[in-house]
Amino acid sequence: AVRPSLRRSFVSLRATSTEAAAGPDVAPTGDAGKAAAVRAEMAEAAAVWCALHGLVVGDRADPRSGTVPGVGLVHAPFSLLPARFPSSFWKQACELAPIFNELVDRVSLDGEFLQSSLSRTRQVDDFTARLLEIHAKMMAVNKKEDIRLGLHRSDYMLDSETNSLLQIELNTISTSFPGLGSLVSKLHRSLLNRYGEVLGLDSERIPPNWAASQFAEALYKAWAEYHHDSAVVMMVVQPEERNMYDQYWLVNHLKESHGVTAIRKTLAQVEAEGQVLPDGTLVVDGRRVAVVYFRAGYAPNDYPSEVEWSGRLLIEESSAIKCPSISYHLVGTKKIQQELAKPNVLERFVDNKTHIAKLRKCFAGLWSLDNDEIVKSAIEKPDLFVLKPQREGGGNNLYGHDLRETLIRLQKEQGEALAAYILMQRIFPRASLTQLVQGGVCFEDLTISELGIFGAYLRNKDNIVINDQCGYLMRTKVSSSNEGGVAAGFAVLDSIILT
Ligand code: ADP
Ligand code: MG
Ligand code: MG
Repeated sequence: AVRPSLRRSFVSLRATSTEAAAGPDVAPTGDAGKAAAVRAEMAEAAAVWCALHGLVVGDRADPRSGTVPGVGLVHAPFSLLPARFPSSFWKQACELAPIFNELVDRVSLDGEFLQSSLSRTRQVDDFTARLLEIHAKMMAVNKKEDIRLGLHRSDYMLDSETNSLLQIELNTISTSFPGLGSLVSKLHRSLLNRYGEVLGLDSERIPPNWAASQFAEALYKAWAEYHHDSAVVMMVVQPEERNMYDQYWLVNHLKESHGVTAIRKTLAQVEAEGQVLPDGTLVVDGRRVAVVYFRAGYAPNDYPSEVEWSGRLLIEESSAIKCPSISYHLVGTKKIQQELAKPNVLERFVDNKTHIAKLRKCFAGLWSLDNDEIVKSAIEKPDLFVLKPQREGGGNNLYGHDLRETLIRLQKEQGEALAAYILMQRIFPRASLTQLVQGGVCFEDLTISELGIFGAYLRNKDNIVINDQCGYLMRTKVSSSNEGGVAAGFAVLDSIILT
């Protein structure tokens, strides 16, 4: 049996900062020492679990870790215990998944809306301009995508000021961590099965997380709609990828559960080895491709030359199922997020009033920079805003001092430069003390978290084959850091325990 004071010192691990600072509950030194010893034991057990179950990434320290599978592996960064998360917000976030899936599909059908919403951005942002150019070409030939596959992740933070669940962004391309995310939930459940009693935490309160197998199943079902037994799924990847095991989990599920082969190709390889047959069939390296699943192609760095753009265009011109198509990709831009938040825009795409209300409830304040009032407010109070360019992958947003300086500079330039950005209300999640494990070292810090809900959507003409929530990913970062990417080195993988 464990003394209550010892249990308390564990529980405060993921207490809120106010609770943690409450004082009188602090355990006596003896118990605190024992708690630290058990924590060290847990951290070691967790690291072993990661190695044995494939919760791993390539190690930056090994130059071959991004190119040679099985070389230079390190456990993915993770939090020792799951984050507490209120059941009501969890339910709200899950309910939103199919609604967002459908919204993406509906918006993607309105090519004029995408082109006109992004027309000013296009003038100042070359990358967006290139994407729009491909999109315009497809519009010009009236390209039809009968089979539509979306594997999305909608990210949220709990805003402590308003006590509400607010969306950070919706990712429609290359959404990462379905593989490792589901494993973190398993890791936490396994740790709580062993230490849960001491901690006063019930492993049953960690929601099941089948993101990896559900995403693989969606890829399989899309493949099946294509109706060609020898066709493959092609994963478009970066030439160097330290997060390859997250991707290999899907490859593995596809093969083991569905007997479907997945090949990996870079955009340059697609260009060199690929062709589109007269009937639209995409053939790469001699193999007919049923489904193209992008885990690259979302950032300018993925297109170092014209070769990669040709590869992207080739895919788009083919009749292979694209996840995402160019239009799904564009729907996921920050600019479209901001346009959809304007009054009466959702109504153009969604008929169901309840759905509209649910969507609007999770929208934070979003503004384009042609709104002088808001630009003025942001310069006066930069800490209440985030300034976002049309980029993905973390590390691109501007905060505080940088935000103010950038706005002042862009205003002086007087041109269209402001159109490259959107402004967003800054969300302030409550901080809590968390044990983080990175590179085999466990340390404690004040953290904030972001919950991502995976969603899968598959439609063949009028038949909606899948429209589901597919597990989740919690990411936790030190509260003093602005950005949140795990791959970018800002955050750790986490899961949730419902309260
Ligand atoms: P990306 O597509 O690069 O992931 P995000 O919009 O998700 O861009 O922003 C990156 C990170 O910045 C998020 O994971 C989050 O940690 C932080 N962030 C973004 N928007 C906000 C916001 N409105 N309030 C607070 N933090 C934010
Ligand atoms: Mg993103
Ligand atoms: Mg993000």
